Amino acid sequence: MLGQMMTKPLLISSLIDHAERYHGQTEIWSVETSGGVTQTSWGEVARNARRMASALTKLGLEPQARVATLAWNNRRHLEIYYAVSGAGFVCHTINPRLFPEQLIYIINHAEDRVLFLDATFVPLVAAIRDKLEGVEQFVLMGARDESVAEQIPGLTFYDDLIETGDGDFEWPVFDENTASSLCYTSGTTGHPKGVLYSHRSTVLHSFASNTRDVIGYSARDVVMPVVPMFHVNAWGSPYGCAMSGARMVLPGPDLSGDALVRLIDGYGVTLAMGVPTIWQGLLASATKLGSKLDCLTQTVIGGAACPPSMIETFREQYGVDTVHAWGMSEMSPLGTTNIPLAKHFDLPLEDQYRLRESQGRPPYGVELKIVDDDGNDLPTDGVTQGDLMVRGHWVLTSYFHMEDQALLQDGWFATGDVATLDADGYMTIRDRSKDIIKSGGEWISSVELENIAVAHPKLATAAVVGVPHPKWDERPLLVAVKAEGEEPSEAELLGFFDGKIANWQVPDKVVFVEALPLNATGKVLKRTLREQFAEALTG
Ligand code: ADP
Repeated sequence: MLGQMMTKPLLISSLIDHAERYHGQTEIWSVETSGGVTQTSWGEVARNARRMASALTKLGLEPQARVATLAWNNRRHLEIYYAVSGAGFVCHTINPRLFPEQLIYIINHAEDRVLFLDATFVPLVAAIRDKLEGVEQFVLMGARDESVAEQIPGLTFYDDLIETGDGDFEWPVFDENTASSLCYTSGTTGHPKGVLYSHRSTVLHSFASNTRDVIGYSARDVVMPVVPMFHVNAWGSPYGCAMSGARMVLPGPDLSGDALVRLIDGYGVTLAMGVPTIWQGLLASATKLGSKLDCLTQTVIGGAACPPSMIETFREQYGVDTVHAWGMSEMSPLGTTNIPLAKHFDLPLEDQYRLRESQGRPPYGVELKIVDDDGNDLPTDGVTQGDLMVRGHWVLTSYFHMEDQALLQDGWFATGDVATLDADGYMTIRDRSKDIIKSGGEWISSVELENIAVAHPKLATAAVVGVPHPKWDERPLLVAVKAEGEEPSEAELLGFFDGKIANWQVPDKVVFVEALPLNATGKVLKRTLREQFAEALTG
């Protein structure tokens, strides 16, 4: 016997429909690429999304045609998210920080037919336009501007294109498993790989992100995704916020600490999300500008390990609760969030704080396990470390246009991370498997060493990599960036590890650099450091 309940396909258009109907007046502030801030609303975003969906449909694109964006977090980008997926096309958000060759590869591999671009990226697109095989329409995200039109032959304009759409366009209804959006991983090794999300996976991911122990956006929040909309769909916040009717601040191109502090204070941001490197700049600016970040109550930090010292600064100096989160493009991205359990409130405060440092536990919909080299399950004792495997409703089954390669192992996806799990499901990332330091048969977590190093007051930031060593195969090397006006010595920095970890884990040496090399998503390029300092201990 079947249940006697209604079934409606889980479509992305239902999210914007809901936001339009029940949160139509709710404000969204958007920093324009041309400067200035525009105030819009969920109602207006929904109306524009329908008109743009109609305009794209009139172009005669085939179902699930890829429509790409090279854009910052702004209102037109939000409208495109809903217009493209809602109309049954696939929204392909591209990371503009990739190298031109990677951009060409991705756009051709995805077979993009339309490319929306922000004014910032006109020179970039003009330079590679001839190599983009399938793109028929280049659309500048703004009003008509003849001086820009000259730079890309055939360029059209968002504000013109939307005029060709019908305001009474109705969202089509189709199978919820239909592809909705596409993101490529940054590809630190080999070619970038595409992750193709579905309407169903996106809506389920939004439900999960809206539970209280995950992120739990509220209609009372002002949410600022600093994480770009080209990086795993800004962690799903454009969908999650529509579902809950949260107000949003879309920060545009300037992600400097000063700009972010001004947006937080100016628009009363309560919840902000981003990678640790962004918050380093923000915290320095808050001190400099004398801001107390009064409205901010929560930050969600992930994408790379959040140093405990950052959680502490937010808590002690600004009264902001940090939710440490872990995920990846392959999982839409949310995998775990760190929120305490009821029993933890009986623990001494110090222990409670320590528990908040790990990457947290999975919500309903995600399962985790760790395995050894032979694929055998390892104990969840909080100590044993192994390869982290995941499965769940918003985890991929295969990469886009690589469907013939068996990716899953017994239905599980191997994340490439090395982690520990405890009995409550709290997970701690020890390292990416390729970054873990193998010293004489023992494993040293570079993340753990970095967490200690960045807490040193005389350092701006630091990374630890394993470099070849004649006796121990590999030993840790601390690559440090000095804080402004400080001159820390090597001995002082190495002494800082005393008593915090076992002696044999302390780095062998410190090298100072002006800045760390970062990849397109703001993560430290450890491979580059390993190559650069390959002879630091042997030379
Ligand atoms: P890529 O960096 O390959 O483009 P993602 O942006 O999807 O891919 O990054 C996913 C990876 O980032 C994870 O597998 C993990 O190694 C790392 N990561 C994400 N969040 C955290 C975190 N909170 N702590 C440590 N590592 C993290």
